[in-house]
This record gives sequence, structure tokens and C-alpha cells, in this order.
Amino acid sequence: MPSSQSTDGTRTDVLLIFPPQTEARFFPYLSLPYLTGHLRRRGRRVHQADLNIAVLHELLRCPALLDDAVRAQDTGDDGKAVSDWYRHEMADVFAAHIGELRAHVLEKAPAGELGPDRAVRLATLALELLVRDTFLTRTWEDLGRLDDAVRRAAERPPAASDVPLVSLRHLVTGLLGRHRPRVVGLSVAFFSQLAPALLIAAWVRQLAPDTQICLGGQQVMLRHDGLARLPGVRETVDALCPTAGEEPLERWLDALDGTVPLAAVPGMTWLPRAGGAPRTGPAVTLRFRDLGPPDFTGLPFRSYLNDALELAIVSCVGCYWGRCAFCSYGNRSLPQGGYQQGTAPQIADAVEAVVRATGTRYVSVADENTNLRLILKAMRAVRERGIRLRFGVRSRLEPVLTDPGFCHDLAAVGCAMIAVGYEGTSQRLLDRVDRGVCAADYQRILDNLHAAGITVRFTVMGQVLDETPDEFEASLRFLVDNERRIGIDALELMVAEPGSRLTGSPDDYGLALDTSDRLAGNPELSYLAGRVGRPLAVRGGPTRTEALDRLLRIFHTVRPGRTNGPAPSRPAPDGSRAPAVAALRPHTWVRTVPAYADDRTEVRVTLADLVKERFYALPADDVEQRADGLLMARTDRGRRLLARLADAAAGTPDPALAAPSARSTS
Ligand code: SF4
Repeated sequence: MPSSQSTDGTRTDVLLIFPPQTEARFFPYLSLPYLTGHLRRRGRRVHQADLNIAVLHELLRCPALLDDAVRAQDTGDDGKAVSDWYRHEMADVFAAHIGELRAHVLEKAPAGELGPDRAVRLATLALELLVRDTFLTRTWEDLGRLDDAVRRAAERPPAASDVPLVSLRHLVTGLLGRHRPRVVGLSVAFFSQLAPALLIAAWVRQLAPDTQICLGGQQVMLRHDGLARLPGVRETVDALCPTAGEEPLERWLDALDGTVPLAAVPGMTWLPRAGGAPRTGPAVTLRFRDLGPPDFTGLPFRSYLNDALELAIVSCVGCYWGRCAFCSYGNRSLPQGGYQQGTAPQIADAVEAVVRATGTRYVSVADENTNLRLILKAMRAVRERGIRLRFGVRSRLEPVLTDPGFCHDLAAVGCAMIAVGYEGTSQRLLDRVDRGVCAADYQRILDNLHAAGITVRFTVMGQVLDETPDEFEASLRFLVDNERRIGIDALELMVAEPGSRLTGSPDDYGLALDTSDRLAGNPELSYLAGRVGRPLAVRGGPTRTEALDRLLRIFHTVRPGRTNGPAPSRPAPDGSRAPAVAALRPHTWVRTVPAYADDRTEVRVTLADLVKERFYALPADDVEQRADGLLMARTDRGRRLLARLADAAAGTPDPALAAPSARSTS
């Protein structure tokens, strides 16, 4: 608890920051709200800032930033390259729709002509364009180079930095000025946040030298030894927190007040700036079941990149199974006491608190592997309190889901979605990685979940040890057979993360690990390389290139979620076609590639749908474009092409120019 003598009433005790750059933009990442809730209940002044989403909000407030960023990305080829044209058009479309984007993203108000899906997509694309090829989106070969680059970036004058870095520094300066925090805590959940987090730490050290700085989160749990050795980290960071941060932060503030000795603060690794070995405090004692609900106050929780308002809770820390060999997160739960779950009333309290504070009607249970029986009990309790909401979970394809009654009960309390990791259908491989599930159950489980109306979304893992070609084909066939009833969120190759059983005993899994400092992730398939670990080779298994090709085959073969009829612009199953269209007005986000960027404009009109990121080429013999942009069919084939464009939502048919009903071919 705060000591009344020692606290300065004008200062915030802790400023918690979630740094860029990650795709976690659907709802606030939970580390901050749980830490905030705990510390506020202990009487502390806390401000939480999600700078990952704030970079987007800055862009929405000041769309000219995108023009500046795009100009900095010009190739210098007189701006005539199609890539330059594309980026400038994107900035133009973004500026043209800024009112709808602000309304939808910031306020969840109607998105006008764009509609909610396109608004989210356009905002995402604009943000990615803003940060493209900047420090925020660099990937790293090893921690040493990352640390060096952070130190150089921190020494650079703000005006010489990338456009989004100037914005980010401005945000950090504003937070420090308004809150004058005694402690800044940076939560680093994803590897792609590590360099920006260290840069923010360096800025805080420059701008507010008396502020204490702590780094925590999943990446610190995985890599604290390596981080503690980096010169840049030793210069700027006071403490690493490789455990849940609630109790360490609470007790650190007590120590800063002088009410407990620093040596009594649990869960921290102290990095003496004068040099010397890091010192580690005692273990934490606070249990998850004693934690209260998350507190989202202060976060712009309505303004995330989502179609609707969505918030999250967790029901546990770690994973009750914990044994999957590739899972560093789960493997940390293996020692006694490593896994902790909430009680059903506690989880129900958290859900109720979040619903009452925010009005959300959808809650993500953001565990890595939810105990489904526990969540069923908790959500029943929520219903009994008169609260109706839908929720999503992440879990294995657990044996309990072979019971249709259980799936029905889950759906009845609001379960709408289960996210699942899929490593294929080879029981041999599932057993080798100790997945603890039965592939023979998979079909029945998907049937049950489908019958209950629960959506299933897969993350597909490739290079699962020595997967044979036959095993891969069977796993692919399972996906194809079920493509109408699954979604696929991500494809990724297996990664040997630090702390995982794969890394601890690679021989047991037939792996050869590169034990140098080199890092390996999934740059081809995952956002900013995704999870990062040691480079690996599987003895007797597919090479990385072969494994990647297999995942690409899945990408090109499986058509997830085709439950709503044929894809746009394909003939219907009965062979009938959409009515012909004589004239089509392209939407404002569908732009015509100019002659200087398309050397075949004499024979075609090329359109770019900047929101869908799709190009369409229309033969000039069949379609012409008027000076005002209207596309006019010249032939029956042209009318059919325009009909397909209308079907692909690229434009609106002009009613003043109705199509003749002719069906003849050109
Ligand atoms: S992959 Fe999932 S089920 Fe397996 S240990 Fe990790 S969290 Fe647990």
C-alpha cells in the first residue's frame, strides 16, 4: 500500500506501456488491464497506454502522416513505378475516407459507404504502409544486432527518424510530461515488440532520468538471461520481470516508498547500472485465484481494429497440459505450481466486471489452452446473473469435445468460437510432440462443434518433426474435407523457442539446433516473423524449404469457410451467371492504373482494388473507361466482365445504363 509520507501526489506511480509493433489490435492486450486492476485496488495511481494501437490513432487524427511516410518510401524513379503509384493512391484513398474510418474505428459508428469490414481493412493497410520498412517493422538476426540498432536509433535526433518513430516519440514524451511516472513498465508479449520496447526505454531514460524502468511479459520470461547481457538493456533498464508482474510491481512501489527493503521485492531481476551481476529477488507468492478482474479504464477499448466491441479475460496462467514439446509457454507450467487457474466464481466476476464496465457483448477468453469444463461452469454462472454474451476460447481438440452434449452445453452458454492448433492427423507425430490428443477424434469433434454452431479456427503448424509425405497428404486431406466448416487464422513452421522441451533436449525429437546466437522465425508466413527461436533442422525430415512448400500447398488448396455459396465472380454451381452489366462505376477505393505505370494500357484497362489488394485487367476490346471513370461494356463479354466486377464488389452498376439481356458470346 502507498505510504502517505513518501508519495508525491502529483506523480503517477506506474505508467504501463504496451509497445508497438504487433498485430494484437483486436482488443487491448490483457497484461496492462490486469496489472492496472491489481495496482489500483492497492491504492496506486496507474496509467496504461497501448502505444501499439495509439500509432494507428495518431494516423487517424493526422492522415497527412501517411503522405509523409509514402513520400519517404518513393523509389526515386520519378514516382513512375507502379509500386510508388500504388502507395500514393493508398494514401489518397485513406485520406478520402478518413471521416468513415474515424467514425468506425474510433467510435464504432457506422462506416458509411465503406462498411465495417472494409473500414477495418483499410485502416490496417494504411497503418502497415505507415510503418513499412521502418525501425518498427525490422526483423532481427540476433539479439546483439537488435541491441546495437536500438542504441543507434536512440541517439538519432527525432527529426532524422522514420515518420512513425517521430510520432511514437511524441506519444512517449506526452505521456511522461502528463504523468511524471515513478516507474515505467513495458509489457513485451511478442518478439516484434522487443526492439521498439527497448527504444522507448532508452527515450524514457533520456527524457526522465529519475524514472525507474522495468521490462516484463512473455518475451522477458523466455529470454531474460540473454536480455540481461545486452549492453543497451543494462544502460537503460532497471529491472526485468520474468514472472507475473502484479506482486513485483506492487512491492517495488512499496520499496520506493521506503516501506520495505528492495531485497524483499519478489519476482524481479535487478540490473545494476554500475555493472556487476544481475540480482534476483525472492519468488512471488500471489496466486492467480487471488487476482481481481482486469481494469480497462484509460484504454481506448472501443477504438480497436475490430468490427465490433470485443474485450478479453483470462481464466488461468499457463496450461494444465503443458507438455507439447514445441510450446515454451506451456512447458513453463510443468514444474509443480507452474499452472494456476481461476475459480468459476472468480472468472464469472471478471466477465461480469468487464461487461458492466464496457458494455461488451463478446469476450475472448485469451488463454493459450482453456479448461473447457471450468469455462462452461463459469459462463453458466454468468448467465445465472442475467448476463447474455458470446465468447471465444482457445483449446486443443480435447476428448471432452467428442461428447455432442458437452458441445451443445458450451454453445448454450454463449461459446461462439474455438481456436485450435493443428499439427496434422498423424498420431505418430502427435505422440512424439506429446500433444495429448487423439487424431481419430478430430472428425467427430468438428462434426459436434459444427452441429452446435461453434466456429472452429485453426492455426496450422508445419515442419512437425519428420512428417512423411503420406502423413502430410492425409493431414491436408482432412483440412480439405472440412474446409467448409473451419477457418484458418495462420500457418507457421514449428519454432524451437527458448525454454521449450524441443530446445532443452533436441536429440529426443531428432532435431539439430543451431546453438549460435542466430534467431529463426517465420518471416515468410507470420507478421514480422512471428515466434522466434533457434534455427533447426529435422534429421530425416523435410527441409525447411520443403516444409514451407507444404504449408503453401495448404494455403493454395484449402478454401476455408466456404459456407456462404461460391466465391465472388465464379459461376454458380448451376452454371448460371450474374446478370450482365452495361456500365459500372468503380468504388472510390478501386483505382485505374495510369498509362505511365502500366505499359499495356492500349490493350487493357487495369484496375486496382486497394482495399482487397486485388488487380483486375479488362481487355480494351471489351471494356472502355470514360474520362469520368465510368466503365462501359463494348461487347457481351465486356458486360459479363463488368458483372463479375460488380459481383466482386469493385463497383456499382449504373442503373441509367441497363444491360440488354443478350447472352451471346463474343
Ligand atoms: S500447445 Fe497448447 S495445449 Fe500444448 S502445452 Fe502449449 S498451451 Fe498447452
